Amino acid sequence: LLVVAGLEKRFGHTQVLRGIDLEVHRGETLGVIGPSGSGKSTLLRCVNRLVDYEGGGVWLDGRLLGQELHRGRRRKLPHRRLAAQRRAVGMVFQHFHLFENHTVLGNLCLAPQLVHKRSRAETEAHARELLTRVGLADKADRYPSQLSGGQQQRVAIARALTMRPDLLLFDEPTSALDPETVGEVLAVMRDLADSGMTMVVVTHEIGFVREAADRIAVMDDGRIIELGAPSQVLDTPAHERTRRFLRRLA
Ligand code: ATP
Ligand code: MG
Repeated sequence: LLVVAGLEKRFGHTQVLRGIDLEVHRGETLGVIGPSGSGKSTLLRCVNRLVDYEGGGVWLDGRLLGQELHRGRRRKLPHRRLAAQRRAVGMVFQHFHLFENHTVLGNLCLAPQLVHKRSRAETEAHARELLTRVGLADKADRYPSQLSGGQQQRVAIARALTMRPDLLLFDEPTSALDPETVGEVLAVMRDLADSGMTMVVVTHEIGFVREAADRIAVMDDGRIIELGAPSQVLDTPAHERTRRFLRRLA
């Protein structure tokens, strides 16, 4: 479903991604771990087309994201088609980015109503279905500020699902949460992974990736230094840097 090949990204003179090769199959959950500054968030942002990249490419379902071939040269996609591509990829951030002046239901209905031009009743029914799925059916009329961090993050996940994405990206979804609410968010993510959603999850929750991820990628200094089954990467890492990173987390 997702293919990343030779992806390079610079900020000014700093090379942040040094040739990333990665494939994520439909229905697969890929965990991404690695030290701070290794480029994990930048990788997700390149896939989500929030930033442009200098080299390589990102393909979703065989389509090059953000660019097209025109007379043998790549050029940036026109805005409308870029927006359409972005809809296929959902993203959940560390900080929930909910609209504070809208209710929970409002947060879920805004984007689909604008984009899909579906009827209000239809969007609302789908939104309520998703709220039930994340265990928040009774919070539809609350405002984000009236919810716990874990509940807000579950709303953010439900909101990402309203666009029916092919791929869902998570950037440290539980790092801003109180310890007691981390579990409820991981449970929702686990449920999504089990239901066949294709996910890339950047996290420091080693227990979660061990249980829920099909494979784990370890990033270090703009590269993927290790990629494999959770037990292989976590229990018998091939790379000294992976061992050092895991020791620090333990
Ligand atoms: P963390 O675990 O702390 O979130 P990360 O692995 O997500 O780290 P990135 O946020 O991708 O790391 O950052 C990788 C490198 O790119 C860092 O050295 C960072 O300073 C740099 N960087 C990221 N965004 C920008 C930007 N907008 N402008 C300049 N440099 C940036
Ligand atoms: Mg990051």
